[in-house]
Amino acid sequence: MGIENNKVVSFHYRLSEPGGEPFEDSHGDQPMVYLHGHGDMLPGLEAELEGREAGERFSVTLPPEQAYGERREGATTRVPIKYLLQKKNLKPGMVVAIGTEEGPRDAVIVKVGRFNVDVDTNHPLAGKTLNFDIEVIEVRDATGEELGHGHVHGPGGHQH
Ligand code: ZN
Repeated sequence: MGIENNKVVSFHYRLSEPGGEPFEDSHGDQPMVYLHGHGDMLPGLEAELEGREAGERFSVTLPPEQAYGERREGATTRVPIKYLLQKKNLKPGMVVAIGTEEGPRDAVIVKVGRFNVDVDTNHPLAGKTLNFDIEVIEVRDATGEELGHGHVHGPGGHQH
């Protein structure tokens, strides 16, 4: 079964900058799971996954504009520590999740104060060319309920 719209796809990935050491690796953890054709995945990655089958391995290199965008200057903002999901052992350079009305949002700490942190709201991977080593684990039809919700249910997906 090839990957096309409305298939639920799970895959393992290893993420690095070209020629660099991997800084994310899903092997040994749960694979990434997404619903193909619903804007769940980076478009450049989704295009490369199209038509692949379970067991296929391939690599994709995405420039920043196809990955997490270029870094924006002046994207530093001050956030009360009470809005961070993690409140202890905060250090510059650390990636933290900030609770927002649209859900948690990742940012990188620039400076830690007593009640506030200064964070860079650029995506932590903004400005980077990214290499993904992909191994497709499973391709299945989405259920009617998953299509209605526009996302995957069960392990690795939404639990509700
Ligand atoms: Zn749902």
